[in-house]
Amino acid sequence: MRLPIILVDAGHGKDTPGKRSPEGLVREYAWAREMAARLVAGFRNAGYDSFELVPEEDDVALKKRAQRANAYCDRYGKENVILLSIHLNASGNTLEWRSANGWSCYTTKGVTGSDDLAKCLYEAAAEVMPDRKLRKYNGNKEPDWEDNFHILLHTRCVALLSENFFQDNREDVRYILSEEGKEAIIQTHIRGTLKFINKMK
Ligand SMILES: [Zn+2]
Repeated sequence: MRLPIILVDAGHGKDTPGKRSPEGLVREYAWAREMAARLVAGFRNAGYDSFELVPEEDDVALKKRAQRANAYCDRYGKENVILLSIHLNASGNTLEWRSANGWSCYTTKGVTGSDDLAKCLYEAAAEVMPDRKLRKYNGNKEPDWEDNFHILLHTRCVALLSENFFQDNREDVRYILSEEGKEAIIQTHIRGTLKFINKMK
């Protein structure tokens, strides 16, 4: 087995209210699961062990998701586990098209190893999606946003949550539903994570 193990968490579930685009074009849970399955396949192709944290279609409580990730940390050591949580952004709670757009990712507040992982993903995103908007918190020095999301705060390994464009922005939705967009998002996560792993060596 080649460490680290890369866990891919697909946000939400089929019964989660909201979390979809206007006109029913995209449902976050389904899109995230498609990405998670493809990411796991991609990491395995690259020679790493990788698993979907939530293979179910149903929502799994955040506490349980964190427990699943921590079980891998217990078994393999937290330094040998990386967690990527895959989401779509939205700027409103009603089903209307809005103007906010772009890609971003989050880590917990404060300086942790997860910030290095996030930086690597932003670098990869700039390489893979040079024409797309990358939302940065504080330029290249500190590109990732920080929030104590449960899945980040209550897992012991390096972890980030990516907001892969806005499900309530028409052009972002066109992109995330296109094969070009899906592949670019997958490559961003794979390249960025492998950059991080190589830096850790
Ligand atoms: Zn989400």
